[in-house]
Amino acid sequence: MIRLPAIPKPTELTSDVAQEMTALYKKEGTAVWQKTYIKKALLEMSSNKCCYCECRLTSVSHYLEIEHFHPKSHYPDEVIVWNNLLPSCKRCNVNKGNHDTKKEPIVHPVKDHPKSHFILRAYRFYNKTDLGQMTIEVIGLNNRERLVKKRFEIGVELIEQLENLLALCTEYDKGMSSSTRRRNRIIETLRNLMREGTHQYEFSATAATVILHEESYAKIKFLFIKHQLWDDELIDLETEVKFCAFNVSSL
Ligand SMILES: [Zn+2]
Repeated sequence: MIRLPAIPKPTELTSDVAQEMTALYKKEGTAVWQKTYIKKALLEMSSNKCCYCECRLTSVSHYLEIEHFHPKSHYPDEVIVWNNLLPSCKRCNVNKGNHDTKKEPIVHPVKDHPKSHFILRAYRFYNKTDLGQMTIEVIGLNNRERLVKKRFEIGVELIEQLENLLALCTEYDKGMSSSTRRRNRIIETLRNLMREGTHQYEFSATAATVILHEESYAKIKFLFIKHQLWDDELIDLETEVKFCAFNVSSL
């Protein structure tokens, strides 16, 4: 789970339209939120990911569901209120069900900073606050088969890639292989690795947290700085990674 940006309400969703839709839902139970312009805006907001578990929503097994943060069954007047709509996967949406978020609040991915409420350790979320604990339980953020295993696989893969890159950097540092081709390959490899910890990528919170806490990353960064390879693009990428990472001081 990472913090998502608030994006403006689609222009199609005027107050008149919203009023009509709300009345229709209350009268006939019509799924008034199923509009292409709403889906498009929500997917843009989350980079095509579930707002809770960060799985990719465009893959065959994970279609977008429009989730009502305050459940429409309890709060029908909010059925089409823009900041009550979120992009979710089916699993998270089903887990959350009709949970009453006004009586027992959970972390809102746009309004709250998830990293103020959780830490991520050994590929599991742990609560820092009561809100965090409620979210873990209601959404099922530590589902072993679906999420913890996936995070573990991503972490193992990244750690291996960082180790391999460190070996290349060490050779470069010792002058064993200092060609321009090798230098460019090293830079591009690190950029690609770091992109996995930015918000466009699936499970970016896990990738970002792993990257920033691996000793190999610190050593690679040290060698990059030593050889003046730590450029503006890498500085920007690291800022983006820090945004998605847990257990770091910045929000
Ligand atoms: Zn999900």
